[in-house]
Amino acid sequence: MMNWPLPSTVRLFEVGPRDGLQNEKVPLSLESKLAYIEGLLASGLKDVEVGAFVREDKIPQMASSLQIFKELEKRGWSKKRGVTLWALCPNERGLDRALEADCRAIAVFTGATDTFTQKNIGMNVKESLQVFERVTERARKNKIRVRAYVSVCWGCPYEGKVKPASVVKLARKLLDMGVEQVSLGDTIGVANPREVVDLLLRVKPEITRDQIAGHFHDTRGTALPNCLAAVGFGVRTLDSASGGLGGCNYAPGASGNVATEDLVYMLEGMGIRTGVKLDKLCEASRIAIQSLGRIPASKYLQAWLAKNIPSVA
Ligand code: MG
Repeated sequence: MMNWPLPSTVRLFEVGPRDGLQNEKVPLSLESKLAYIEGLLASGLKDVEVGAFVREDKIPQMASSLQIFKELEKRGWSKKRGVTLWALCPNERGLDRALEADCRAIAVFTGATDTFTQKNIGMNVKESLQVFERVTERARKNKIRVRAYVSVCWGCPYEGKVKPASVVKLARKLLDMGVEQVSLGDTIGVANPREVVDLLLRVKPEITRDQIAGHFHDTRGTALPNCLAAVGFGVRTLDSASGGLGGCNYAPGASGNVATEDLVYMLEGMGIRTGVKLDKLCEASRIAIQSLGRIPASKYLQAWLAKNIPSVA
């Protein structure tokens, strides 16, 4: 048998309650959102991005983030061993609110091209780094962990193909700033496994595998193969959204993140441990899917739902 050097474990970073729900038209009620998040945590997911401290008038889906943190604290999740509740936090105002919420881990967000970043957060890449430098410094002083997303690493809806060298340079700058991990995003789902490996090859000499995460979208059906390529190449953290929720408001036509269920099914089947119990995960996703009133993008969840009686929630 061919020797395929695969890792024994992969860390899944669950972005459904933030990246997923933020890009769904229907906002979830506080109760549904809490039930969904608690379900995700009960399934064994350890890193869950549960909210975003952003402008509520622009992103009403995230308006309950402060309450979410307070409730999860009351219910004992904030201090649970091994669990980290993350929030997207794009600027210093966001950080003020993160501190108010007792949030211990934040994510900042930029893009690999100026046009995408400008349209998305109203700054070019260089300006965004200046803001993050201040956010990261203050966060670290308050012992808050920081990770960074870099969007459109393989292709931009406005600027087309992205040069791997510019992504590597940007990732290096973020790490030098004190960010613990950079999540490389295929935000519009254009990459193929070969391009994923090409970029990782460029990244490798400068950046260790734990400092990198893969964040793949399934717009053209390549999210799962791209995850596999990344794992086969040494990436040990993958971002995913339960149910395959979300998309990207700023990338027209983009469909959701790779579905956590599909990823867990594939990895566990290959003998790569994720620590996630699939049935429990599906039960959690069902809460979100039913509240949104839509068919899930996750293939595994579709199959699971066909076999399991709907809950009465
Ligand atoms: Mg995403």
